[in-house]
Amino acid sequence: MQTLFGNKSSTQTPLASAPVCAISVDQTGAVVDQSPSSEPLIMAWHDQDADLKDVVTASRASGSIADGRLCLQDGRRFSLTGVAQGKRVLIVAQDTTVGDRMTEALLKSRALLKDLLDRAVDLSFEVDADRRFTFVSPSDAFGHSLDDWLGRSADNFFWQDGKIPARNPFSSRKPTEFEAVAINTGDGKKGWASFSVHPVFDDGGEFKGVRGVCRDVSAQVAGDKQTRSDNVRLALHQRIVNLLNTTHSAEELLDRASSELKEVLRADQVWAVVKFKEGLVPAAICGESSFLPNTDRIWEQLANSDKPVAEVSDGDMSHLAVRLEEAGKGIGMLVMSRDTDQFPWSRQEKTLLEDLIGSLAAAFGKAQLINRLERLSSLDELTGIMNRRAFVDAAERRLQHQSRSGQSGCLLFVDLDHFKEVNDTLGHLAGDQAIQLVADTMQTLVRACDIVGRYGGDEFVVWLEDIEPADAALKARSLIDAMPSIRDQIGGSDLRLSASVGVCPSVPGLDLKFADLSERADKALYEVKNAGRSNVALATAPSLTETVAVGGMV
Ligand code: GH3
Ligand code: MG
Repeated sequence: MQTLFGNKSSTQTPLASAPVCAISVDQTGAVVDQSPSSEPLIMAWHDQDADLKDVVTASRASGSIADGRLCLQDGRRFSLTGVAQGKRVLIVAQDTTVGDRMTEALLKSRALLKDLLDRAVDLSFEVDADRRFTFVSPSDAFGHSLDDWLGRSADNFFWQDGKIPARNPFSSRKPTEFEAVAINTGDGKKGWASFSVHPVFDDGGEFKGVRGVCRDVSAQVAGDKQTRSDNVRLALHQRIVNLLNTTHSAEELLDRASSELKEVLRADQVWAVVKFKEGLVPAAICGESSFLPNTDRIWEQLANSDKPVAEVSDGDMSHLAVRLEEAGKGIGMLVMSRDTDQFPWSRQEKTLLEDLIGSLAAAFGKAQLINRLERLSSLDELTGIMNRRAFVDAAERRLQHQSRSGQSGCLLFVDLDHFKEVNDTLGHLAGDQAIQLVADTMQTLVRACDIVGRYGGDEFVVWLEDIEPADAALKARSLIDAMPSIRDQIGGSDLRLSASVGVCPSVPGLDLKFADLSERADKALYEVKNAGRSNVALATAPSLTETVAVGGMV
């Protein structure tokens, strides 16, 4: 027996060198020869193992070789080879227990690995050098079927057809991680996937395609976006609430609320438009261009809409407007403008604006309240026009504005002539009435953009916006022309009550203050008084070098 089995090569692999034993049985079933360690085989033969018998029968019947397998009760396994040798049959058994277990374990671990991969990633794939899918697992990832994937170019799976990003996972020439790549999902929607890819090269170094895995991160991206926009909204809301608590000037409140919105919504400009009884007043502007949109049209469009936010296009500009209400009444609106060539207002931007309506309306409400209080405290009790302090403040602001707009205005100083005569002749009440009538007349003579104030006693001041000095003098002349009618109305037709006016034009760019103009206007008025009253004198406009001078009567 040693002769048969004693020459195993020591260079065989562990699997190939698995223990081998053999027995030889004759036609009576007797074991006539056996190798060392063949006890398991002999026992199986004596136990009449069916598999073993089958091999012997088959090889005897064929007169040559038959294969089979033997599994013992103790778990050992053998591959069997029956060789017909005349009347005997040689049965060679190779113990495959270890090899089988290793194979089983390997198969199991591959299944485990695949299972692990399928759990950890949503898609494993392989694309060829033309980015066509040659393998996908599982086949139903991202809502696509196997037919969708296989053979089709990965280009079809990018969100924007025809626009393949330069950095795409399917052409990668080196191992790379890609975060949040937009991909087409089976339902035609946009999904997001993160990729980990490895390029494949052949032996010659030629690029053969890419293998990789990817995870569906759509929910995460949507969540991130939501979190980002929630954070932006919360922060903005907080800043507006802070503004409400810390700002006590209506103008500053609207100014700062507009600038917060301009930044968050990436608008070119934002107008805060306040609704007063008299109409819409553009109260604050934030932005470079200061182009005023058609506020009446936008207000009307918002009023006719069932939504508080509306998009209005106007030539090259696209406006996003929000209507703000207090107790169901419109108190103002914010109009954000963007060049239409840039990018359209997104749904998120509109939603953001809608979410902020409450705090923006509160800001407008407070601004209006401050404004109303300021107006009450800034009005002259007798005439209802601005008092001196309010007029000076307003005129200072107009002068500041001028340095931006480049427009010039005119300041008028008015003093009634022989006013004491009214008091003395007709009484103090008639004097009051005259003062009221003069104030009313002045308001009817000026435009909505001009301002009129009572400077004190029988002195008045007027700021005429964006006007030539000659036209300002004409306005002054109209007041003088209205004085006979006022005399008639107070029952003093024969009195000498009239008005003298000094006019001083402003010069944009000189950074003038009210005092610079009032000094000149007052001097011009003084000239009129000296020259006999009831006339208009025009002061020369201030310049960098000139001293105060009066240009003469006009
Ligand atoms: P002139 O032509 O030089 O301007 O003289 P005038 O008579 O107009 O007098 P002046 O401007 O010097 O003084 C204004 C007067 O107006 C003094 C004051 O008694 C009177 N006055 C000031 N405030 C009021 C007011 O509220 N009601 C009335 N009835 N009179 C007032
Ligand atoms: Mg007077």
